[in-house]
Amino acid sequence: MFSYRHAFHAGNHADVLKHTVLIATLEHLLEKEAALTVVDTHAGAGLYRLDGDYAGTSGEAAEGVLRLLSEAKDAKTTPLPDALARYLAVVRDFNPKGGARIYPGSPFITHHLLREHDKLKLFELHPTDAHTLDANIAQLEAGRQIAVLREDGFGSATKFLPPPSRRALVLCDPSYEIKSDYARVLDFVSAALKRFATGTYAVWYPIIPRPEAHDLPRRLKTLATKAGKSWLHATLTVKSSKIVTDASGATHRPGLPASGMFLINPPYTLKALLEPALPQMAQRLGQDRHATSSLESGG
Ligand code: SAM
Repeated sequence: MFSYRHAFHAGNHADVLKHTVLIATLEHLLEKEAALTVVDTHAGAGLYRLDGDYAGTSGEAAEGVLRLLSEAKDAKTTPLPDALARYLAVVRDFNPKGGARIYPGSPFITHHLLREHDKLKLFELHPTDAHTLDANIAQLEAGRQIAVLREDGFGSATKFLPPPSRRALVLCDPSYEIKSDYARVLDFVSAALKRFATGTYAVWYPIIPRPEAHDLPRRLKTLATKAGKSWLHATLTVKSSKIVTDASGATHRPGLPASGMFLINPPYTLKALLEPALPQMAQRLGQDRHATSSLESGG
């Protein structure tokens, strides 16, 4: 356990999907004056250097946020749909001198959008990332607005539900390093919905050839439907998941080919915002002819 470090993946296509959906969701929820609590069950380190050793090792951001940013500069490309434009605007806010040396993770994206009377609860278990998160958050001098907890997000995050204002967004973004994470997501969302049925829940998951990954959105859909809740399911595929054999006969497992975001009680505005944005993500970030996106909703 704990070999996953988000710094290797920051700004990749999965972050583009996740953070675009996060921003669109938050901006809708923040239209109401009443305080919002955001619970981030798997927060990561908060901020990442895209020119640092970790990001450089994988180069995943080059095929994610960096590709979007450089294409957006090109006057010949068609203008970005609103949701993607807002995502890039937030990334640019962290890089006022241009480029994208700094990539904001979900805690910093969220804090950037929250108002003073909103609250942010961050869970991170990895000792190094929790330490970095603490140090990064301390620089914001946000006082009691932000709580960083070195606790199990699956086990402890429900203690903040429902929040006093009865308005919350819960982001559940585990690393799925261990197979049991898939079942723990379901148990967590089920327990959270029982405590707080009107909260908005957003779950990120990888689309990989593994039965648990395949089953997760189907089981979340069943959970939402049985609870009488609306849901939205967005996916982004950038390449085939097939193992490739090169000329020497060596086989290569592709990196993460696709991922999804499943929301329960999504903002009613979200589907219309994602409809034009998802095909653009697939077109701009696609790495082969398997690139595609999907969007469905129900309830
Ligand atoms: N949400 C972050 C973002 O969008 O910037 C990325 C989070 S990363 C995918 C998942 C994080 O969960 C890792 O930093 C990992 O150390 C942490 N983690 C793993 N198991 C955990 C648990 N049970 N509770 C809290 N954090 C955990």
